[in-house]
Amino acid sequence: MKLNIKDTFNKKLDIDPIAENYVRQVSGAFMSLVAPTPVTNPSLIHVSDEMLKELGLSQEDAKSEEFLEVLSGNKIYPDTQPFAMCYGGHQFGSWAGQLGDGRAINLFELNHEGKQWAVQLKGAGKTPYSRTADGLAVLRSSVREYLCSEAMYHLGVPTTRALSLVLSGEKVLRDMLYNGNAAYEKGAIVSRTAPSFIRFGNFQIFAARQDHENLQKLLDYTIEHFYTELGTPSKETYLAFLQEVSSRTIEMVVHWERVGFVHGVMNTDNMSILGLTIDYGPYGWVEDYDPNWTPNTTDASQSRYKFGTQGEVAIWNLYQLANAFVPIINDIPALEKLLEGVQNEYHQKHQEMMLKKLGLSESTPNPSVLIKDLKKLLYNSEMDMTLFFRTLSSFEPNKISEFIEQITEFTYSENFENYKPKWNTWLTFYADQLALQTNNNRAIEMNATNPKYVLRNYMAQLAIDAADNADYSLIEELYTMLKKPYEEQPAMEKYFAKRPDWAKHKVGCSQLSCSS
Ligand code: AMP
Ligand code: MG
Repeated sequence: MKLNIKDTFNKKLDIDPIAENYVRQVSGAFMSLVAPTPVTNPSLIHVSDEMLKELGLSQEDAKSEEFLEVLSGNKIYPDTQPFAMCYGGHQFGSWAGQLGDGRAINLFELNHEGKQWAVQLKGAGKTPYSRTADGLAVLRSSVREYLCSEAMYHLGVPTTRALSLVLSGEKVLRDMLYNGNAAYEKGAIVSRTAPSFIRFGNFQIFAARQDHENLQKLLDYTIEHFYTELGTPSKETYLAFLQEVSSRTIEMVVHWERVGFVHGVMNTDNMSILGLTIDYGPYGWVEDYDPNWTPNTTDASQSRYKFGTQGEVAIWNLYQLANAFVPIINDIPALEKLLEGVQNEYHQKHQEMMLKKLGLSESTPNPSVLIKDLKKLLYNSEMDMTLFFRTLSSFEPNKISEFIEQITEFTYSENFENYKPKWNTWLTFYADQLALQTNNNRAIEMNATNPKYVLRNYMAQLAIDAADNADYSLIEELYTMLKKPYEEQPAMEKYFAKRPDWAKHKVGCSQLSCSS
């Protein structure tokens, strides 16, 4: 296995001088060197063939002993220096101080065909940032991260990706719902990739510690490596950088809204500075359209990170990032103006996205009423979001009642009859809007916006249950299906269906905690 190693983070930025691996506060450094903890009997469950290619690796490489050794953490690739990053973050609205890579270990960066990739292991053992936890990950959460990050990529949502899923061969103790019922589960290690894993929290920790020199170093490093279009760092560049990070973050969240993804833990340590979806934990997919829904039981009482508030939370997080930049940018009015603009940008992008989902042009009059009424109706009539929007592309304006019969199949409500008149009114309104425009490609465009297949929560759970019994065929089936989420796949039609009843309250399907 030959990799074109091109480390930058651990070459350009300061490393914690302490080499021992024990839990501590790390100041004045960006990372601590740490080797993954070896495991006794690793085995490869799945490899992303697409990610292999991106990294310049072959199928043969993936079958090699070295591949398994490196991606299980048993061998350090020659001439590399694995490390855990130091970062802080706001968790559920409060500043939490130092967090850091408690169970992620960055192996190396490489360059292939002009693209820079960082590769890290999740679940490969303790680091100086593990606090009271074990640095490990269980099979269920690893399958969820592995499948979902690749699925999101193919949906066109900016995201970190996954290269491999490895069974560690060891057992990990977890209290799945934090209710005193701890049990041993199979351990696993996902290798994930992104140009960089820097988070909002990497900047925040230096600001909190008033370490302005390192704060500026990190800003300059990030701009010079990942925002090269902004030019040489200066006060203007820093503002432009914040603007670009904001735009990317907003764009990411609007994609989440488009496909019905709920992240579940939008703490600032889980916000990528590149605007990528990162840290797939207790995430979920909206089925019956409900802006109040969160899959994360740890957040159930507050519902801070529910489907309908992800845009607001992203903006709140951007305020925290801007706050961290104050010592460097030193221009509060300019920052405030920028952030006000971000609010408008969000509302505008959200509206554009909704119009696209509806196959309507941007010149549609009064779109906000149409969209607001639709959301209310989807919510009240407990309509399956994915099935509804996908089917809307075949809506014929002169066949409203037929369409209503069709979507009757997609509701979870027992009172759908009551909503039929309202659907009739809305669809008539919608038909009027469609009549104002001529677009022969409406169905094609809508089908490229509204996915046919998403990783419904119960699907991931079925794959996990099978994997727990060493049957990995469902992982492969879902992985392959989700590579083409916008295409008709007749053999996969069974997945274009409502959530089965058994999954409504099942742990893992609608109830997930941060315990992973
Ligand atoms: P999360 O909300 O899952 O992104 O995690 C928040 C913080 O807890 C991060 O610093 C993680 O590295 C750390 N963390 C989560 N799970 C573990 C674990 N099993 N062992 C060590 N650290 C962990
Ligand atoms: Mg995290």
